Amino acid sequence: MINTSTILIKDVEVVGRRGRTSVYIEDGKIVELGEVKVEAERVFKGNYVLSPAFYNTHTHAAMTLFRGYGDDMELQEWLTTKIWPKEANLREEDIYWGTRLAAIEMIHSGTVAFADMYFYVEAVGRAVVDQGVRALISGGFIDLFDEDRREREIKTVEAGLKALEGFPRERVRPSLGPHAVYTVSKEGFEYIRDKADETGYPIQIHLLETREELEEFLKEHGTSPIRYLQELGILRRGTITAHSVHLTDDEIRTLSRIGVYPSHCPISNMKLSVKGIMPAQRMINSGIKVTLGTDGAASNNSLNMLEEMKFAALLAKGLSAPTDLPAETVFKMATEWGAEALGFRGGRIEEGYDADLLLFRKDHYSFTPGYNFTSDIVYSATPSSLDTVICLGEVLMEGGVVEGEEDVINKAREVAYDLIQR
Ligand SMILES: [Zn+2]
Repeated sequence: MINTSTILIKDVEVVGRRGRTSVYIEDGKIVELGEVKVEAERVFKGNYVLSPAFYNTHTHAAMTLFRGYGDDMELQEWLTTKIWPKEANLREEDIYWGTRLAAIEMIHSGTVAFADMYFYVEAVGRAVVDQGVRALISGGFIDLFDEDRREREIKTVEAGLKALEGFPRERVRPSLGPHAVYTVSKEGFEYIRDKADETGYPIQIHLLETREELEEFLKEHGTSPIRYLQELGILRRGTITAHSVHLTDDEIRTLSRIGVYPSHCPISNMKLSVKGIMPAQRMINSGIKVTLGTDGAASNNSLNMLEEMKFAALLAKGLSAPTDLPAETVFKMATEWGAEALGFRGGRIEEGYDADLLLFRKDHYSFTPGYNFTSDIVYSATPSSLDTVICLGEVLMEGGVVEGEEDVINKAREVAYDLIQR
């Protein structure tokens, strides 16, 4: 990581705009745009396309350790025979290295910030800061309707929030992560709601991922998960609802009124066969800011927002019409709306915004001929199209290389094999 307080990106083309411009960055912020006359410590000048970086609104970063460990299985069988038994053996060190591995993969594909829901949040925070990225971090709260377990989970949340509050706020934002309606009791949700009221921290939750989840909840409670969570105060302005696949038109209007940020995870949804497709275009038409997430690497198996944008666009078209989720819309989901959901002032190339920026190689085959850069980023770019990644004014990748990445990859491989044999 190269720490410089001033950067000048000289005379570049910018995605979504005409002509060339220069961008001056100071102390992590975009300070000046246009014909910049000032000098800077670092200057980037070359055949680049400048873009805002991407914001991944749903993942379990350290699940990179389970990449390829169990594929092509039924969801319940996959969870109960592959994932949960091994997750029970996770240690803090595994989470740290798994999260750093995730961050390296995200940097290579243009993501600088993510929403995380997993274990050992202090280790996640350290990995985020050490790798130079940013995150909205929560521990997954799962009480399985058991009082003793709930008490333990509450203690874990309290300690986790305290630890997260020790990190620089522009890098690490604390959050609350009740896992889902089928793993958290009413009392558990009430605790989360009270904690959110008390602290103002946003909530992230899995919502209506599979058809079974919806049908079983309706059978047991006689009401829909959306109404239940709304009445409990879990669905509130700013809540990130991962998946949100199985929705009625009425529920779409409700979510729009509340002001949640759904996280569309098309690749994970298809791989786990959730028997549905998020009606993303209809949700956007009703005023919802739909964002994009990769979900964990166990169900994706990558954390690549370039792929996620393309899959989201294609899936929407496959569902209804080729005009649904055009490139400009999915690009906005991955940048501006994603940043807003995570609570970071990024996702736009404008004065006063955080300098979370990407330099794509304009001479790369995927940007040739280069008629429409938004289209190139969404439909043809790959991680090899990306040259430089800047996060809060720090250069995390240059020339396609993240400094020290081999060591992180080797260490992550080591802890992963150890975990699988435990
Ligand atoms: Zn998830």
